[in-house]
Amino acid sequence: MLQYYIPLVGYPYAGHPSDCPVCSSSHHSAISRFDRRLKQLSTVLCDDCGLMFTNPMPTELELAVYYRTQYRLDYQFSLGKPGQRHVRKKMREAVQRHAVLAPYLGGRKVRMLDFGCGSGELVRQFALEGHSATGLEPGSGYAQHAVDLAPTAGTFRIDNAPWQTVAYPAASFELVTMLHVLEHLPQPVAALAAVHRWLTPGGLLHVEVPNMQGYDLKGFERFHFAHVIGFSRDNLIHAARLAGFSLLAEKSPTSLVFTKLGGESCAAIIDLKGTARRNRAEYSEPITALRYLMHHARRLTRRLLSR
Ligand SMILES: [Zn+2]
Repeated sequence: MLQYYIPLVGYPYAGHPSDCPVCSSSHHSAISRFDRRLKQLSTVLCDDCGLMFTNPMPTELELAVYYRTQYRLDYQFSLGKPGQRHVRKKMREAVQRHAVLAPYLGGRKVRMLDFGCGSGELVRQFALEGHSATGLEPGSGYAQHAVDLAPTAGTFRIDNAPWQTVAYPAASFELVTMLHVLEHLPQPVAALAAVHRWLTPGGLLHVEVPNMQGYDLKGFERFHFAHVIGFSRDNLIHAARLAGFSLLAEKSPTSLVFTKLGGESCAAIIDLKGTARRNRAEYSEPITALRYLMHHARRLTRRLLSR
């Protein structure tokens, strides 16, 4: 498993050649050979929608092995659970995220699902606010931490399973959140289509992913083995539309609120070919060793100062 951490060598996976996981185009070209750990990782850019994705694409099983290894390093070396500071930060974030979505609920108490709930802080926050809150999380370690957060009041449930295996009946939820989840999924449109089925007519979906556009260091620094897909605004909207969603509001270019059914209330014009051109131009600018090191020095300083 050390192979995950040695720079300049590839990850221990075989994967399979993939067409674009959003628009299904077979036209793509190489954009990067390395990731942010300076490990070999082949990322391509779709010529038709500008999506970036790992190719060969790891299989679900290979990703599961990776997460298990990550989990050990991230948690077992830190006394088996997330640090207090991490939990406090996530709790504050959950309060803010609830506040962002509350205006769309108009005071109603809803059934909500946090798809990929991690350690469960947002599920807990919705339960505390009186909603019926469910978290879906494939990682057993994270799911256990989430269960441990169960509030004494409110309806709170954590389902520890991969999304493909859960059988929520149609129209089970009025609200689904997918926050920094979709970039981890090799089949994002299928996952969005499942969410579409699980939502009630008029139900809401809040999706947020890292934005690949306009990033300071545009080279390999943006790539990460766990992030098999790199979205930008237009191809994220396209993915959601393919699954049947309409755009309701833009919180940021890649933090979007969608609805099931109904006309789009904000005029979302997307330009997929233009996105492909812009992304290619942004990522063709090579990253220098000095910029890379400076970037990490700043990150490290910020992290130390925030302790
Ligand atoms: Zn595409």
